[in-house]
Amino acid sequence: MTTRHGWLGWFGRDSWTRPRARRYVIVAVGLFLVQWGLVTRAVVAGTTSGDRESQSLVPLLSPNLSLVEQDAVTAAFHDAVRRIDEYSSCRALFDDLVVDGRRALAKSFYEPAAEPRVKLLCNRYRAAAISVVNGDRVFLCRRFNRLTPTGKVAVLIHEALHGAGLSEAPLDPEAQTAAEITSMVKLACSISRR
Ligand SMILES: [Zn+2]
Repeated sequence: MTTRHGWLGWFGRDSWTRPRARRYVIVAVGLFLVQWGLVTRAVVAGTTSGDRESQSLVPLLSPNLSLVEQDAVTAAFHDAVRRIDEYSSCRALFDDLVVDGRRALAKSFYEPAAEPRVKLLCNRYRAAAISVVNGDRVFLCRRFNRLTPTGKVAVLIHEALHGAGLSEAPLDPEAQTAAEITSMVKLACSISRR
């Protein structure tokens, strides 16, 4: 997970990325029944949902998102925060990266995948969202809008994990694929596989 890769050759230098960001990570929408055994992870001691106010966190939204998109992301964001609060297995995904899950979500900046090369990645990988390992920006592809509400929640948590440092295959051959990460998120955060 600490392995670093250079830019994708065909992607080249790019102005919207950050210097720290070395790899583009892709979210595929496919649902795969991959078991990761995360439900058996040790319970993380600490706060319960009652101790935290999931509504106090608000998503960072680009004004370039439509109002419908902003509403959808906001709803998914609150659901994601609630699941991180409620399920220790969901929190543990972030704990493993030594990052607070709420903080990872709170720093995510959601914007449309408007830039041509980001759009290209959306199409190339049939992605719902594009983000960068250790980055804050989450580019929402058009496919995101077609996901179910819980599918959107899984994508937001998936992207927040990238923001927290989780890499992805094939850019990191040792990492899980996008579909595997999404599957892991759904299992750990008790998101139905629809
Ligand atoms: Zn991904």
